[in-house]
Amino acid sequence: MKVFSFFRGGFRYTDVTVPSHDSSVTAFLPGLSVIPLVQHIGSRANPVVAVGDRVSEGMLIGRGQGLGSANIHATMPGRVVRTVSWKMAEGITNDALVIKLEGGFTVLGKKAEVFPWQGLSPFELQRIIAEYGIVEMEGSGRPVSDMFYALRSAHDPLTLVVRCVFDDPWLVADHVLLKERVAAVAEGACIAARAGRISRLVFILSRGLRELGQRLVDAAGSALPVSLVYTGMRYPQRNQRELELILRRYAKKQGYELGTMLALGPATLAAIHDAVKFKKPILDRYVAVGGSAIKEPKVMKVRIGTRIGEIFAECGGFTDKPKRIGSGSPLLGRTVMDLDEPVIKTSYAVFAFLAAQIGGHERSKCIGCGECRAVCPVGLDPETLYKLTGCSNARDEGLSRAAECHGCGCCEVVCPARLPLSTSIIRSALRGA
Ligand code: SF4
Ligand code: SF4
Repeated sequence: MKVFSFFRGGFRYTDVTVPSHDSSVTAFLPGLSVIPLVQHIGSRANPVVAVGDRVSEGMLIGRGQGLGSANIHATMPGRVVRTVSWKMAEGITNDALVIKLEGGFTVLGKKAEVFPWQGLSPFELQRIIAEYGIVEMEGSGRPVSDMFYALRSAHDPLTLVVRCVFDDPWLVADHVLLKERVAAVAEGACIAARAGRISRLVFILSRGLRELGQRLVDAAGSALPVSLVYTGMRYPQRNQRELELILRRYAKKQGYELGTMLALGPATLAAIHDAVKFKKPILDRYVAVGGSAIKEPKVMKVRIGTRIGEIFAECGGFTDKPKRIGSGSPLLGRTVMDLDEPVIKTSYAVFAFLAAQIGGHERSKCIGCGECRAVCPVGLDPETLYKLTGCSNARDEGLSRAAECHGCGCCEVVCPARLPLSTSIIRSALRGA
């Protein structure tokens, strides 16, 4: 088995405090669910229910407004008891509908009716995917319908890349989902390919996942040409740029053209499958709950809207007072300010770290070790770029390379002086854009 890896930089990211990838457990249903109206990259969904209204499981409660925005659904039956607003660490205000659990479930525990999709047109499939508010669940929150829209002006051929690359240990929830729902992921890929008029499927997996790779290929059938590629485990192999580098090399060797690539992960493809085949919005998601402050790290299947504090409690609570609580990967994720913040469509991990795991925030001066240069996969000089970001006349030629930074965070992780390298470089690139 040949394994493809990007050439330069990166590092092997390990963390012993992530939960095991053996299996998942289902979290308790919360008595109150907090459903934010922003669970995507664009503007807030417009609420279509008010305080006092009754809602059913899977009912539309917020309508997406334009590009980047997505529909929002109730994840439990009940009554809207209030609205809440809170400021997140990024300074953005989010609003949510609070639903008190009441009445019977219409989806949970019921045998799902199956809706055949093979006879539907790409347009009809796209409409269903948009209606059920499917977004890229592996972090970005970009509506999948927007991605299909962007493909209309893309150059042929089109390739769907099923990205099962777990270079970051905090993607363990996706790994477990893939193991437990491999047939749904493969069928979701076939549906997405039809919806996007895509002519080839490429399954790309981390080395060591050979059996899962074969199961994906078998489940996908033979309606489209299918390729199976294995990658190395160095972070950031999953990044679009590093992924494209190896896939274009692979496709050239195999004698076909990759064309325009759309990359989707297992959670998103399983959600596409459920939306089209069962007419079901995203009601829950797999979440990795871990970190040194958590007594019993687990991968849990959690209802959207469950408060993070409740999930931590289900994992035995804290070993000691955490120093940092966050959502997503510690490398790229965001800080959680309040344990009442809920799990949303993009919360693939939540973590709580003790001070020892963070190693303190003391910043010192650059010692010129060169580690940041060694790990940058783009070949940038993060030390110099960082120093230039602090200059008042910084719009010089050197700083223009900041635009090439794709924010993988490698430089910041390895810096012994704990300088905010990638954060400053990205901010500078955005200012110059
Ligand atoms: S965050 Fe940017 S500068 Fe730092 S290693 Fe990644 S690409 Fe290079
Ligand atoms: S890793 Fe940090 S200390 Fe080392 S050269 Fe880069 S900025 Fe300086």
